[in-house]
Amino acid sequence: MSYPASTVRRVELTPAQRRVVDDLLARDQPRPSFDPSLVGALRERLETTLRPLVATLDEPLWVSKSALAQVHSCEANYLAERAWSGWTVSMAEGEVAHRAIQLSVALEGDTTPLELVDHAMGDLAADQAGSLGGFLSTLGPAGRGELRAQATNAVSTFLECWPTLPASWWPRTELPVRAELCGGRVILSGKIDLCLGRAVGNEARCLFVDLKTGGHYPAHLDDLRFYALIQILRIGVPPFRVASYYLDSASFAAEDITEETLEIAVRRTEDGARQMAELQAKQREPTVTPCPRCRYCRIRAHCDGAREWDRLRQGDSP
Ligand code: SF4
Repeated sequence: MSYPASTVRRVELTPAQRRVVDDLLARDQPRPSFDPSLVGALRERLETTLRPLVATLDEPLWVSKSALAQVHSCEANYLAERAWSGWTVSMAEGEVAHRAIQLSVALEGDTTPLELVDHAMGDLAADQAGSLGGFLSTLGPAGRGELRAQATNAVSTFLECWPTLPASWWPRTELPVRAELCGGRVILSGKIDLCLGRAVGNEARCLFVDLKTGGHYPAHLDDLRFYALIQILRIGVPPFRVASYYLDSASFAAEDITEETLEIAVRRTEDGARQMAELQAKQREPTVTPCPRCRYCRIRAHCDGAREWDRLRQGDSP
């Protein structure tokens, strides 16, 4: 991807926006190329591992970044999340903010963050076939106001921290990606918050970004490596770089994608898919692992693991 100076410097950038353009997008720096045989080797490796695991499942195994993070943290949490189909205000905030940011990229003119959020909430509420639309219609004035305010904060921060994204950068938001393995018996799926650039031949020239409103966790890079794996399985070339962008602190954690990082993603996906397949086939009981997820786990009221985590945090474990 090249970044013509005329498009980038068209308006004066804030220091935060300049860091995005110069450091994160890495303008004018060479991009890596990937051996075209790599995708075939990765696919064969994954399918050889996964095929026997899913052979007896009644339905395809869906593997997402959230499911992988859950099952690697606490298997009981993974099953609880799998059984949950509701919404909370904080979950809805993420969806509304991402939809509003999507509109900010697509709409011409100076639409304010609050207007973008109202457009997004209107669109989502109108979709009564979707479960989020139903949730939004049940919100009272206070819940709606809280959601609107929080989503507006996130959108305002994004517009403050990121430069205007010209069409020549191929900006894509909320980009759905998936890769089917084992004849559709395993589906790796995800949604990229922000994708810039595109591969050219075997040259990796696109950047994947996850926009975060909370703090930094090392596992965020695992999420992005998983997306890089899906991308190479889709089109044969991964992104050149993946990054978590932390809106609250206007900072980012980035990693360049290499064969080694893809190898880490393959191993983590294989391990997680194995755990998911065993649990879905009811081959064994889930393990219960006290961990930071206990703080907001849906079954914490009924789980001894939550009490154990509280004790560990307070430093009075036996
Ligand atoms: S409360 Fe903690 S230990 Fe229990 S299921 Fe949830 S995440 Fe796992």
